Amino acid sequence: MPKSSTMTAQEEMKAARILAGKSAIVTGSTSGIGLGIAKAFAREGADILINGFGDAAEIEQTRRMLETFGGKAVYSGADMSKPEAILGMIELAREALGKVDILINNAGIQFVSPIEDFPPAKWDAIIAINLSSAFHASRAVFGEMKARKWGRIINVASAHALVASPFKSAYVAAKHGQLGLTKVLALEGAEFGITANAICPGYVWTPLVEKQIADQAKAHNISKERVISEVLLKDTPTKKFTTVDELAALAVFLVSEAAASLTGQALAVDGAWTAH
Ligand code: NAD
Repeated sequence: MPKSSTMTAQEEMKAARILAGKSAIVTGSTSGIGLGIAKAFAREGADILINGFGDAAEIEQTRRMLETFGGKAVYSGADMSKPEAILGMIELAREALGKVDILINNAGIQFVSPIEDFPPAKWDAIIAINLSSAFHASRAVFGEMKARKWGRIINVASAHALVASPFKSAYVAAKHGQLGLTKVLALEGAEFGITANAICPGYVWTPLVEKQIADQAKAHNISKERVISEVLLKDTPTKKFTTVDELAALAVFLVSEAAASLTGQALAVDGAWTAH
């Protein structure tokens, strides 16, 4: 929104926010990293569609909290493992928010097991939620982004898009695939003002990691404390978990005008883990 002399100070403040007038979908945003990104976008003036599972009352509370920043917020409970549901989520965003300028493919799950015991159903679910959902959602919004000659896609991948760890066959395969998809989207969108990037976090303290600690303790047959120091943060030179706020701040930058030429990249936010 351009400034005008008739605007109140509050209206001017709203117009100055860098995502004023933009609409964003953040998948898997009822928790963890996605929720952090949704909040940061709402704070910057975007209208938001949040998605994910959880307690209905808590999700409604989150939706209302996002609206306190002044934009619209809607919720879709679409299951990212189901292509039809993903299309339904995009339709809801168009109906409720008018358009989709920004897509954050963030929903993800994890499962840790030696490959010989890895359940095929878990492989299928991880590939569907962590990789194929990004394809289905990007495919569904790309045409409108091209037509408007502006779009931003971020795939929340992982350091596991760049390196592997044992016992994570499906996750590592899906995240490497997500990075490949990111590069293709960047090339196809390049002449249309669309950027696509992958954020590649190291370990972030979220419910996904908390659950993994228990699973890893079982897989390695060691205590939870030893999982944190000897497995999770072993190769992280900073010896610190990446924070949700750090990732949200990067996402805000990536969808801003200042990042128009930053596309097709894997941005590792991993305390130098992948610098080894
Ligand atoms: P989280 O468990 O806190 O949140 C995951 C979100 O995805 C939740 O909102 C959940 O409801 C949603 N979700 C799960 N399955 C879904 C489905 N089928 N359909 C729709 N929504 C679904 O996890 P997080 O740590 O915030 O992870 C978010 C993303 O970041 C994931 O893609 C994950 O792989 C990636 N990542 C996390 C870490 C980490 O250390 N936490 C590190 C690197 C990458």
